[in-house]
Amino acid sequence: MKHLLSRSVYQYIARYSTFVPVCGRYRRIVVACSFHSSRYLTLSTVNMSSVNLSFPVIGCTGEDLSQYDSVLLVADKLANLKGSLEKFRKPLEQLKQVDGDVEKEVSLLYADDVPGKRLIFSPTGSLDQDTDDVRKFQDAAEKGIKRCLQAGSKSPLLFSVPSSTYKYADLAAVLGALHALYVPLEIREALPDKKTKVSKLGVWGEDKEKLTSVLNLALALEAGRITCRDIGGSDPERMAAPRVAEFVQSELKGSCVKVEVISDQDKIQREYPLLAAVNRAAKCVERHRARVITLTYQGEGPVQQTLMLVGKGVTYDTGGADIKAGGHMAGMHRDKCGAAAVAGFFKTLSILKPKGLKVIGAMAMVRNSVGSDSYVADEILVSRSGVRVRVGNTDAEGRMAMADLLCQMREKATSEVNPHLFTVATLTGHACIAVGDGYTIVLDNGPAWKDKFARDIQDVSEEVGDPFEVSTLRREDYAFTRGKSEYEDVLQCNNAASSCTARGHQFPAAFLVLVSGLDKHGVDSSKPLPYSHLDIAPSSGPFPGVPSGAPILALSAYYIFNRL
Ligand SMILES: [Zn+2]
Repeated sequence: MKHLLSRSVYQYIARYSTFVPVCGRYRRIVVACSFHSSRYLTLSTVNMSSVNLSFPVIGCTGEDLSQYDSVLLVADKLANLKGSLEKFRKPLEQLKQVDGDVEKEVSLLYADDVPGKRLIFSPTGSLDQDTDDVRKFQDAAEKGIKRCLQAGSKSPLLFSVPSSTYKYADLAAVLGALHALYVPLEIREALPDKKTKVSKLGVWGEDKEKLTSVLNLALALEAGRITCRDIGGSDPERMAAPRVAEFVQSELKGSCVKVEVISDQDKIQREYPLLAAVNRAAKCVERHRARVITLTYQGEGPVQQTLMLVGKGVTYDTGGADIKAGGHMAGMHRDKCGAAAVAGFFKTLSILKPKGLKVIGAMAMVRNSVGSDSYVADEILVSRSGVRVRVGNTDAEGRMAMADLLCQMREKATSEVNPHLFTVATLTGHACIAVGDGYTIVLDNGPAWKDKFARDIQDVSEEVGDPFEVSTLRREDYAFTRGKSEYEDVLQCNNAASSCTARGHQFPAAFLVLVSGLDKHGVDSSKPLPYSHLDIAPSSGPFPGVPSGAPILALSAYYIFNRL
């Protein structure tokens, strides 16, 4: 969407006056603007009742901005405020004379004729350097909205400068703003008067059609991210497995997504023996018992592609008998962010309803507790596919929780159209060491690599600001995970932290391939099945903090955007 801010809106900005120093920093400028009549968009394609936001997002193409109480401008450096943007430039240049941080930090300017008299400038910084990407728009909008809130604004209006370099710059800015406005589920439930940070958010755009399209997309993506954050971010009791199942059923009730829940513990034992091993200590406590949640979406028209997503939903990871000692347990309620992202992706699907796409999801909801019935290292378990698995470390429970569900997907995949299988998981500390915070690692099996999947989705993930790093499955990963004696076919894990193990994030994907039976569907087979593993341990968001919702944006951009 180009020219989000263009000449016409700035004709309403009449003049700027002078700046005044406040609290030792020259941050407030008197700005006089005049805005005239208004028109607001009706979002035609998004059913707002299905969007789980607690405030309205209003597309604004017009002029009467009196319903807002602040204006947030997201732009890059002052020198690039040209043409109609020139009028914003003058007071900012004045400010720059006394505050060298104008292009680095958020500034709040007193603006006489701006609604609420607040003009907030949040600079993106450079946009043309080697390491710049569209996340600069997300970050600037997020920081800017936080500044609006600090100032007491309850109804900010966002203006984002167009970009010819980044095609999703405007979407990124809206999503950055929405991320800042998220209120955790536990706060919404416990403290209803704090359920929303604003009464509304306005987003300005000159072109009604383009603005509608950006907001439709942003709201559907944000709805998915909210579902993901609600599940992934809530504490281990609020989102114990049975309560996740109830939550997912309620979130998708009346939608086009079919939700099924397996609660029968005997069935879980029969169908998913490796998941059941993780569940052994937890199932003694009824409210902690495992659930397998399956979700199915089928868009209009003939199916052209089928996605099969398995998400790791470890509601709490104590490490099990190999207990996380030395303070490493805190934060482990976030070990369900893979399953949470799967649920979030379905929420987005339920709103955008892409055509020709079928998606099957499975959420492996289980708690890795410790107790007298805990599974322990050295046990040999037989997987759904008949593979004899020697437990190496009970803290490697995520691959156990997912392997049998992946196996079941593999069984179904041979009768689906153009299937691609996935695991999505906060799987290894090694991934965090390898790529650092904010990046999802994608690993392809042979058929997916041949399709260039990881490399293609990396490009798309970059465009949408949910970046992936490509890693590669190698022969060493299979060698590492093969059984070490005649007793077992596969060794689940070595007995050291992944972050201290060479190829610590790659070999678990080899385990998943071998134990699910996907090794029989390689490039040399008559039924090759593309499979990609997404390790979201680095990208799932900070703790303390709010889950990011990764990789919902990237998956949506790759699979949904071109099917609307
Ligand atoms: Zn673990």
